[in-house]
Amino acid sequence: MASPVTPQFTGARRRLIDELRAKGISDLAVLRALDLTPRHQFVPTGVRHRAYEDAPLPIGSGQTISQPYVHAMYLQTLRLHGSEKVLEIGTGSGYQTVLLAHLCRHVYSIERIRPLIETARDAITECGVTNVSLLCGDGTLGWPEFAPYDAILVGAGAPEIPQPLVAQLAEGGRLIVPIGGRDDQRLVEITRTAAGVERRNLSDVRFVPLVGKHGWEST
Ligand code: SAM
Repeated sequence: MASPVTPQFTGARRRLIDELRAKGISDLAVLRALDLTPRHQFVPTGVRHRAYEDAPLPIGSGQTISQPYVHAMYLQTLRLHGSEKVLEIGTGSGYQTVLLAHLCRHVYSIERIRPLIETARDAITECGVTNVSLLCGDGTLGWPEFAPYDAILVGAGAPEIPQPLVAQLAEGGRLIVPIGGRDDQRLVEITRTAAGVERRNLSDVRFVPLVGKHGWEST
């Protein structure tokens, strides 16, 4: 899939990719997606000079674009092959949406804050990816119309596993969601099997709260 990456920031992006490799990101498809996706187009102009730092950055409405290492680790954990249907909860800037678009067949992405999803829509379009559908709403309810999903990624921290998301997984499908307190969580991977679900705890993480019917009541 072609992406019109401008030469501007190319050196900084390559340095970030080297940094992520040194931190353990080795999946070549994930590294390629990072190389194809211009992170500077997903952050406000005031922080654009910091777009290729391995750090979260503010994107407005009190939200953040996650640290690139966290995105890369999520995607490396998923081991996508290119044929999957993926649901993303928390579009935010749209950056991870485009990374996913390079790695799977179609991305369905939900964001609850309308100004964010409108800015994300423009940035996604600018990247030239067309295998993305966006919805403004409560992602804790999932997007039943297009279920089941091969993978569901939640980019915000929940107090417990949102059950509608488990219900919308295909058999063999995986849900990755940060679970815990409002400020600190543990990344959890749920795999739906014929017999039920399997749970695996991954790393400790820090995400903004998942706000919705099956998340926190307010930010
Ligand atoms: N991965 C995103 C990116 O690349 O910019 C960053 C995600 S940001 C850490 C988390 C996002 O989840 C925020 O934009 C927030 O508004 C959104 N969010 C929180 N609760 C939500 C919900 N119930 N449904 C949809 N989005 C939600």
